[in-house]
Amino acid sequence: MRTLTLQAPAKVNYRLDVLRRRPDGYHDLRMIMQRFDLCDDIRITLSDTPGIRVTCGREGVPDGPGNIAWRAADELLFLAGREVGVDIAITKRIPVAAGLGGGSSDCATVLMGLNQLLGLGLSDARLMEIGVKLGADVPFFIFKKTALAEGIGEQLTAIEQIPRVWLAIVNPNVHVSTAWVYQNLQLTNRSDDFKMPRFYSSIADICAILGNDLEAVTIRRYPVISEIKGRLQALGAAGVLMSGSGPTVFGIFEQEDAARQAVVELAQGTGWFAAAARTI
Ligand code: ATP
Repeated sequence: MRTLTLQAPAKVNYRLDVLRRRPDGYHDLRMIMQRFDLCDDIRITLSDTPGIRVTCGREGVPDGPGNIAWRAADELLFLAGREVGVDIAITKRIPVAAGLGGGSSDCATVLMGLNQLLGLGLSDARLMEIGVKLGADVPFFIFKKTALAEGIGEQLTAIEQIPRVWLAIVNPNVHVSTAWVYQNLQLTNRSDDFKMPRFYSSIADICAILGNDLEAVTIRRYPVISEIKGRLQALGAAGVLMSGSGPTVFGIFEQEDAARQAVVELAQGTGWFAAAARTI
């Protein structure tokens, strides 16, 4: 087999606690991460012409070595030790620099896809080790389950049997730099006594844990996030939150119809990106 086409899903954070700053500049986090079915398409083709070529064609996403998918391919070709070329075509559907993990998911998908195409036989654990050097959220997308993520995001514990819900995803079309958000975060002397449940049996259990320490930082710069939250609530969302470092907001719905209706309302006349999606 020379070509593989795979889907790279997005994620939201049902919860994101920043626990402390680490000496290496990263932060220790505690997150609940959930994938959903808004996906980039990744087509990977082996070629006899050596080199890595990435095409994406989306403004704000580099085509060459600046693309995190390129770096993933570079790592695996180095391990393979073979003179082979790789062409990667990315069809981007996940909003960029949006707190939805699109780049990390593309990266994870290239690691998994090339492992298969090159017949390297690397375990998921090994791919996660390679992935965390490329991006803190990459291991989560190799893990492929809803997870409690600790450390910088790489220590993953599966959350089994969490209810599937509908999401209305709304992005006001501004790009937010994750680095900027962390630079502007004031860490207070917080007590970490919030107990993260392991079991979730209803949509109410999910809504009970919603929280994001980065939200206030990004809202200060982009107050439109508050407006989106308010409108999603008014349209019947059971819970609303900004994902990751933002600016994307998600509303949680039990019923598909209600999520789709909210998306139609919020896209109308605003220029915002809005999509309904199901958690996976
Ligand atoms: P994170 O929270 O990990 O920063 P995000 O969802 O907020 O993720 P991404 O969409 O992953 O943000 O993009 C972050 C930056 O990475 C963008 O500025 C973009 O130029 C760069 N980038 C490199 N490769 C990709 C890719 N394949 N898809 C999206 N962005 C990419």
